[in-house]
Amino acid sequence: MDPVHPDELSADDTRGVARVVQKLRKARRVLAVTGAGMSADSGLPTYRGVGGLYRSDRLTPAGVAIEEILSGPMFEARPEVTWKYLKEIERASRGARPNRGHQVLAEMQEHFDAIWILTQNVDGLHAAAGSRNVLEIHGDLHDIRCTACTRRERVGNYDGLGTPPLCPDCGAVMRPDVVLFGESLDPAKLRRLEAEMARGFDVVFSIGTSNLFDYIVAPLRIAQAAGKTTVEINPDQTAMSGLVEVKLHARAAVALDAIWDGHLEWWPHT
Ligand code: NAD
Ligand code: ZN
Repeated sequence: MDPVHPDELSADDTRGVARVVQKLRKARRVLAVTGAGMSADSGLPTYRGVGGLYRSDRLTPAGVAIEEILSGPMFEARPEVTWKYLKEIERASRGARPNRGHQVLAEMQEHFDAIWILTQNVDGLHAAAGSRNVLEIHGDLHDIRCTACTRRERVGNYDGLGTPPLCPDCGAVMRPDVVLFGESLDPAKLRRLEAEMARGFDVVFSIGTSNLFDYIVAPLRIAQAAGKTTVEINPDQTAMSGLVEVKLHARAAVALDAIWDGHLEWWPHT
């Protein structure tokens, strides 16, 4: 078994889980900030860190960093190059199903006043698991839109799409409705996040993200400054590992399953 991906929780992690369960008992509003590691247990490759497919030091066969290929400027100049790699990513994630971690976050909806998910993932697996309040801050690969007109499509996969695909209405290049490197985030989604942050969260989870972006780390810092509970679930260390109240060195599916078991043990007695 991969030693960084143990199926059993360590003694430390078991204590951490008990602490999270205790905090959840009093919680009304919960936020989960998720990244590629959340979907690793569904078999999807992560970006950096454990199981990383596209490490920043890895160059594509064309000798160009993947960040550059998946960038706004590259898409504008050579959409066929960006599309070639988007298709590889889509193929690698095809057929993936929500894992136990996604399911637990969806089940949590019935137990708290509000549970919000801020995800960097473009795989749509939180919605597929049944989570309703999902802010897909980087979009969803399955939403395709025209770069020139208002045409939008929802696709199951990229089979049958050209490289690049062209709009059937106006002939312009189509693109996935995702945020490419160097592009700005959707202001409407940011406003929604700010509004929910202003209402406050009692427990904030950071799950399977390398915590590299400010807008991903901000909810944790804000919660921490307000004296709320912060929890990181990641087998690896990140910039937030030393700052969170509870650090679980475990896989998302394993840790969330254990947390939920602990919560449900207590729940029927209330
Ligand atoms: P990242 O790849 O930078 O970091 C993933 C983190 O998950 C690492 O810290 C790693 O140690 C951890 N991890 C690995 N396996 C785990 C597991 N089983 N449980 C918990 N944690 C685990 O990912 P990021 O922080 O989300 O940033 C990457 C960028 O790439 C994002 O912008 C995202 O849009 C994109 N991306 C998305 C997907 C997806 O949609 N599934 C996949 C890869 C990359
Ligand atoms: Zn069009």
